[in-house]
Amino acid sequence: MKIANNLTQIRNKISAAEKQFGREENSVCLIAVSKTRKINEIIMAINENQRHFGENYCQEAIEKIKAITQPNVIWHFIGPIQSNKTKQIAHYFDWAHTVDRIKIARRLDEMRPDNMAPLNICIQVNTNDEATKSGLSINEVEDFINELKHFKRLKVRGLMSLPKIKSSFEEQRNSFSSLKKLLHELGADNPELDTLSIGTTQDMEAAIAEGATCVRIGTAVFGPRDR
Ligand SMILES: *Cc1c(COP(=O)(O)O)cnc(C)c1O
Repeated sequence: MKIANNLTQIRNKISAAEKQFGREENSVCLIAVSKTRKINEIIMAINENQRHFGENYCQEAIEKIKAITQPNVIWHFIGPIQSNKTKQIAHYFDWAHTVDRIKIARRLDEMRPDNMAPLNICIQVNTNDEATKSGLSINEVEDFINELKHFKRLKVRGLMSLPKIKSSFEEQRNSFSSLKKLLHELGADNPELDTLSIGTTQDMEAAIAEGATCVRIGTAVFGPRDR
């Protein structure tokens, strides 16, 4: 029962970090990143009461989403969003964490079915030390949020980033602190922003110290992967 043990450990670590850094109990949501994982592995996690899953590759994700019929599973799209994938993302996911272009936002809004709740959106931010080229720079985010307000089928929830992994805890915290500050500043005019999607297996504690409300954990839940 490796996945069960892993989940127990990671939940304990999250609780410990919440305590250590003065965060409210249960204020950090665990998104189990299930990219490249098989359906039966995801079901094992569901059987351990894991409900939030993150996927990066649209095609692969949708096969899993269709096959997994357990109730109350919440799917987060966390990979780069290509224009030709917006329809599928809008139909199958509850969240998209990596929105950084108006064109993509507009398509997600147009494609989101009327009978579904609005798609929850995080804006991907690039704090200059990111693992990818994706993301808006910090000074672009406020205008972007104001533009997103026109889209009625989207619900802007907060910010996401994926910094390069630093070796020291303090450096890891530094990568996240500008985002925490930005979310706080934006909150004055946008009280609906309640999400900071930061932290992976290697920098989860630093992310929780800097206000993460969801951490996206793959390796520590499912074990190492090839891609
Ligand atoms: C793969 C991935 C993760 C999980 O990374 P781990 O190091 O396996 O925890 C988190 N966020 C994004 C955007 C990813 O692509």
